[in-house]
Amino acid sequence: MDIKKNIFILTGAGISKESGIQTFREKDGLWDNHRIEDVCTVDAFLRDPTFVNNFYNLRRKKLKDTKIKPNAAHINLAILENYWKGDFVLVTQNIDNLHEQAGSKKLLHMHGSLDKAYCMNCLDKIDLNFDLSINYQCKKCKKKGDVRVDVVWFGEQPKYLDLIYEYLEKTDIFLSIGTSNNVYPAAGFIDFLGNQQKKVELVEFNIEKTNKSSLFEKSILGPASITVEKFVRKIVSY
Ligand code: NAD
Repeated sequence: MDIKKNIFILTGAGISKESGIQTFREKDGLWDNHRIEDVCTVDAFLRDPTFVNNFYNLRRKKLKDTKIKPNAAHINLAILENYWKGDFVLVTQNIDNLHEQAGSKKLLHMHGSLDKAYCMNCLDKIDLNFDLSINYQCKKCKKKGDVRVDVVWFGEQPKYLDLIYEYLEKTDIFLSIGTSNNVYPAAGFIDFLGNQQKKVELVEFNIEKTNKSSLFEKSILGPASITVEKFVRKIVSY
């Protein structure tokens, strides 16, 4: 692989599974035993903000557990970024902070982050290192109960989409790692690249075939901690 080319890497919940974080919906359609419509929509938050706050508070707390650490896949992507000479971007659908912990810098959290919040009234942004509750008062506008976790829920627009499509347009290599390619618009990136005039190297890493596997030139099957490390070691000899 030519390290002077432009590379775009998309990651999903599967890359964090071996670090001890549950994926979204592999077989049962649930996220950590919760129905998506109960925890991933604005309606759910308006209906029962305490329930939704607690769901994300628990996930944020879990990230502080010393057993939850970046695995070899996160670490090798940070190594690859350091070594890469062309444009490099890592776009994650994950709301955990394991890529940052591994040392990734050119990183876009298209679905937001567990450790950020904002006020729906005045849009003030907040770093979250505490449990959010309906009694929390916005420091800027002083309104109570309007601060929510800054993750993108169903029906909301993912972040950085214009920038992401600029990167997609100029990329020569696309790696999709640990994503079911079910959640749009990220699931549509491969369709977008497949319809481009220019030839893009398309590689998928997953433990099993996904419903988009046929659109990739290569599907590398196996746990990301092993397959991604092997892939990176071939490029960066260390
Ligand atoms: P998904 O749960 O729909 O799919 C996970 C994929 O990872 C599956 O295709 C599965 O086969 C694969 N996988 C599981 N273990 C793997 C491993 N060890 N190595 C390689 N692949 C593995 O996840 P998605 O496609 O990212 O769906 C996205 C939604 O889930 C996002 O909106 C995201 O915000 C949310 N989410 C994020 C986290 C997190 O931040 N870690 C966790 C759960 C859900």
